Amino acid sequence: MPHPIADAVRAAGVVGAGGAGFPTHVKLDAKVDTYLINAAECEPLLCKDQELMRLHAEELVDGLHLAMQATGATRGIVAIKAKYHDAIARLEPLLRPGMELFRMGSFYPAGDEYVVVYDATGRLIPVGGLPLHVGCAVNNVETLINVARAAQGTPVTSSALTVAGAVSHPISAVVPLGVSAREVLALAGGATVDDPVLLDGGAMMGRVLPSLDDPVTKTTGGYIVLPRSHHLIRRKTRPEEVKVAIARTACDQCSYCTEFCPRFLLGYAIEPHKVMRSVGFAGEAERGWAQLGLQCCECSLCDLYSCPEDLPPKDMCIRSKRLWRTIEPRPAPLPSTGHAHPMRDHRRVPISRLIERLGLRAYDVFAPLTADRLEPAAVRLNLRQHTGAPACPVVKVGDAVRAGELVAEIPAGALGARLHASIDGRVVGVDESAIRIQR
Ligand code: SF4
Ligand code: SF4
Repeated sequence: MPHPIADAVRAAGVVGAGGAGFPTHVKLDAKVDTYLINAAECEPLLCKDQELMRLHAEELVDGLHLAMQATGATRGIVAIKAKYHDAIARLEPLLRPGMELFRMGSFYPAGDEYVVVYDATGRLIPVGGLPLHVGCAVNNVETLINVARAAQGTPVTSSALTVAGAVSHPISAVVPLGVSAREVLALAGGATVDDPVLLDGGAMMGRVLPSLDDPVTKTTGGYIVLPRSHHLIRRKTRPEEVKVAIARTACDQCSYCTEFCPRFLLGYAIEPHKVMRSVGFAGEAERGWAQLGLQCCECSLCDLYSCPEDLPPKDMCIRSKRLWRTIEPRPAPLPSTGHAHPMRDHRRVPISRLIERLGLRAYDVFAPLTADRLEPAAVRLNLRQHTGAPACPVVKVGDAVRAGELVAEIPAGALGARLHASIDGRVVGVDESAIRIQR
């Protein structure tokens, strides 16, 4: 029998509000001794978690308490940037027995689960493993606020995000699921450049949003708006064959990509400079090549910060991981050293330096949470906005729905998440990818 808290969280459609959107009820069904709130928020310019913690501290602590109850955890850790003074001042008096703050420096990446678990607990997740394998579970701020709301019977119908970069008023906001990026951009006063491009999820790990009509999902954490001519946009829109050609010809094997790699610095067998060497000399069919990139968390540090020649070691690691999945029998992942690199503390990358390197200094301003609400005339709710199987619609065209009403269910026996209407209205479209509702 699932724990009643996990059951309420499943019913409310809570997923990890960032990354791949792993269904939270599955995490709450596990047994761990330590539950962590990942409040590292290390993507440059994003600050919605900082604002959520300041304004919704009670709910966040409630969410952590519930998660600890469900999983049997006796220790709850809020891993938070030490410079978030207001949020700390709000949270600290609310902490309950077994809960503590872990103050972090402003480094990138600090939010990778392997990194945050090691920093906060000293435990190293086994190669290819999960926090669960060292007795930990990790959720971000918004997810645990949603857990607290789920326990009160409130489903997930909105997403919190920061809109920063080339916009009139950088803001953080809570917006209905399914609203278009175009409307969110307007809430921030619109772009200040012609032909703006949005990075969905942040400057480092975000992807170029294909269209301004694309909807906000449960995992949308921020849009960084940049001119199309910006270095980051040029890097992120390079065709794959161009990246491979560059990787084959220009790497001088300086190994900076490896020296700064956060997973390498934790002792994992990830050496992007060797991946680059293999692309250039040994060829991609080598079995060993496929093992070298396996532990990459795709943080982009090597691509966008470490490499002095603007080469794409991360993209080559992604290619090597893709190849690894096709090899039969699959080569075993290479073992880790079992300890962090002695130079780790000296090689961590300050976010301020990263912002400079990325060419984002002009956009480095605080984006406060706005009280303005978006009231979209229509929303598009993607059926796949989480890890697992797409949700199955339980409504049909013409049905009237209220905000918070269930519109799509988890397929029987599958990993997935439920979906709820984010506005009052009428269903005007149902297909294999989305449900559309018009007010
Ligand atoms: S993207 Fe680069 S720096 Fe980040 S984990 Fe992968 S190889 Fe290491
Ligand atoms: S940092 Fe760049 S040039 Fe140096 S080894 Fe890595 S990919 Fe090659």
